[in-house]
Amino acid sequence: MPERIETDVLIVGAGPGGSAAAYHLARHGIDVLAVDKATFPREKVCGDGLTPRSVGAIERMGVDTSDPGFERVVGLRVHSKDVTIDLPWPELETWPNYGLVMPRLGFDHLLLERAKKAGARVLEGTDARLPLMHDGWVVGAETVPAADPETEPTEIHARFTIAADGAASRFAAPAGVRRDDSRPLGIAARRYYRAPNLGGPWFESWLDLWEGDMLLPGYGWLFPMADGRVNLGAGLLSTFRNFKDISATRLFAAFATMLPEDRGISEDSADGRMLSGPLPMSLNRAPQAVPGMLVVGDAAGAVNPMNGEGIAYAIETAEMAAELLHEALVKDHLGLAMVYPQALRERYGRYFRLGRGFAKLVGKPEIMGPATKYLLPNPRVMGFAMRMMANLTDGRHGDRQDKLFYLLERLARAS
Ligand SMILES: Cc1cc2nc3c(=O)[nH]c(=O)nc-3n(C[C@H](O)[C@H](O)[C@H](O)COP(=O)(O)OP(=O)(O)OC[C@H]3O[C@@H](n4cnc5c(N)ncnc54)[C@H](O)[C@@H]3O)c2cc1C
Repeated sequence: MPERIETDVLIVGAGPGGSAAAYHLARHGIDVLAVDKATFPREKVCGDGLTPRSVGAIERMGVDTSDPGFERVVGLRVHSKDVTIDLPWPELETWPNYGLVMPRLGFDHLLLERAKKAGARVLEGTDARLPLMHDGWVVGAETVPAADPETEPTEIHARFTIAADGAASRFAAPAGVRRDDSRPLGIAARRYYRAPNLGGPWFESWLDLWEGDMLLPGYGWLFPMADGRVNLGAGLLSTFRNFKDISATRLFAAFATMLPEDRGISEDSADGRMLSGPLPMSLNRAPQAVPGMLVVGDAAGAVNPMNGEGIAYAIETAEMAAELLHEALVKDHLGLAMVYPQALRERYGRYFRLGRGFAKLVGKPEIMGPATKYLLPNPRVMGFAMRMMANLTDGRHGDRQDKLFYLLERLARAS
C-alpha cells in the first residue's frame, strides 16, 4: 500500500501563487498542505520586479516591505533611441506609490515562510507527478521525492486541490487544462551583473533594441537590486513580427551589447548564467477550474499582457481561489468554488482584452515607430500609458485618468 497523507486543501507548487494560496487558507484556519519539487531557497528566472500592484499583494500577506533585502523603486524610466523619460508611480488610494526589487531566490522563500507562519504545512523536494482522480474529480496527487523518483509514490488525498505549478504546468494538464494558442505568450531572458552604475531607484526599460543597424522586435529592462547587482533582461511577445525567428537569447545578447559602457555590463561583471523562460499571458490556459481543482498564477496563464508582470496576478488569483475555497469548505458545498473562472473573467476579462489589443499594436513597427517618436516625449500621455500598463487605478471614482482607463476597459468587451 502506498503511504497516504490527508489534507483539506493540497497546493501543488510553492512559488508566489502557491504560497499566497497557502497563506490565505491557513489564515482562515483551513488545513492546507503545499508541495514543491524544489527545495527553498530556489532560483526562478524572472526580472524580480514588483510594481505597486505586487507590493499591495505582498502587503496583504503581511510581508515587511522595509526588509533590507528589498530595493525600492520610485517609478519607470523609459528609454528610446532619442528620448529618456521618467514616470513616477501614480499617487493612488488603492495602491502603494512604490515598487520593489528582490531576487526570487530570497523573495519566494520569504513568501513561503509567511505561509508556514500562518499554519500551512509544506513538503519541499516533493514532485506531484499526477492528479489522483475519482469519479471525474481531482482528489489529490501522487507524489515522489524529486531527488529519488523511483521510490514508491505517496498519495496525498485532499478535498480540494490548487494547481500553482507555474508556466510549464505539467500537473494540471492530465486533469484537462490546455493552452489557448490564440492568446499571447511572452518569452524573456535575464542575467545578473555586478554593475557599478545602477542607474538610480527606477525600473529602467528600453523600447528599441538594436543589433548593429537592425531594429529587433522586443524590449529590454534593467532593475537595480539592494545588493548592488542589477537584473538585466529582454523579452518579446508572440504578437510581434518575426517572433518565431528571434530567440530571447539573441535579443538579450543584442541588448547587453548596445548598453553604454558606463553601465558596466560585460562578461567580467556577469554573475551567473543567462536564463530564459516563458510568460503565459491573458489567461491563456483553460479551464481554470475542473471538478476538485482550481488553477492559479502562471499555470492559469495569468501574466499581464501589457507589461509582462506575473507575480501580482499569481498572488491575486491565489487569493481569489483561497477565498472561494474557504467559503466552499465552511459551507460544506465544494461546488461553490467552481465559480472561480467566472470570478477571474469579471476581474480581469475586460482589462486582459484591452491588453491583447495593446499587445497586437506594439507588435506593429509601423505603429510603434511613430508612437515612440511623438508620444514618448509627452509626460502626460506616458504617465497614463504607464498607469494602464501596470493596471494601477482607483477605478471609476478616481481622477480623470482613472475615468478614462475605466471607459477604455468598458469599451473592451469582456471575454
Ligand atoms: C524572464 C522572466 C522575467 C520575468 N519578470 C517578471 C517581473 O519582473 N515581475 C513579475 O511580476 N513577473 C515577472 N515574470 C513572471 C513571473 O516570474 C511569474 O509570473 C511568476 O513566477 C508566477 O508565479 P507562480 O507561483 O504562478 O509560478 P512559479 O513562480 O513558476 O512557481 C511554480 C512552482 O511550482 C513548482 N512545481 C512545478 N511543477 C511541480 C510539480 N509537479 N510538483 C511540485 N512542484 C511543482 C516549481 O518548482 C515552482 O516552485 C517574469 C518571467 C520570466 C520568464
